[in-house]
Amino acid sequence: MFTLKLDDIPAEGLNLNWTEERSSLSTYLENFSQIDFGFEGPLQSEARVWKAGQSVLINGRVQTTLHLQCVRCLKEIVLPISSTFELTLLPLKEAPSAEEAELGEEDMESNFYQGGEIHLSEIACEQIFLEIPFKPLCQEDCKGLCPACGKDLNLGSCECVKKEFGSGHPPSQGGGVPACPAPC
Ligand SMILES: [Zn+2]
Ligand SMILES: [Zn+2]
Repeated sequence: MFTLKLDDIPAEGLNLNWTEERSSLSTYLENFSQIDFGFEGPLQSEARVWKAGQSVLINGRVQTTLHLQCVRCLKEIVLPISSTFELTLLPLKEAPSAEEAELGEEDMESNFYQGGEIHLSEIACEQIFLEIPFKPLCQEDCKGLCPACGKDLNLGSCECVKKEFGSGHPPSQGGGVPACPAPC
């Protein structure tokens, strides 16, 4: 994973472009517990990085291909993703954990660098994560799977649907309803 030292950024800034291979991306994803996608190809990034006082500014572009699952039919989707971004990173002091705990929600959304290093590959991955659809679908009107038999309904309807609408109510069990005492 690509890490840039703050000291290596000259006053006039730096133009970078780098590629992260799929294998190292997979290793990186293992740091996260709830990941339901994977990288299908390498992650290509380019960025302009420069310093402004204590801040580090990054303008960049990321591009990759992911594979993920349709939330309805569970079919695998291959999804090309590209995104441009602008970030300002602020220095994060080596804060004691008590102080860290006081960081409000707003602070958490800011971007920080720590220990004089910018983790560029991680930043690039985060930009990709932001572009992943919340509920990926293989197609806009995916019909999903039958909850009873599991058939992919995009390939046609299943027997369950026919039964449900075809034969009406199931025959009632004998003994439950007494016969009408008088002809009605
Ligand atoms: Zn689907
Ligand atoms: Zn079915």
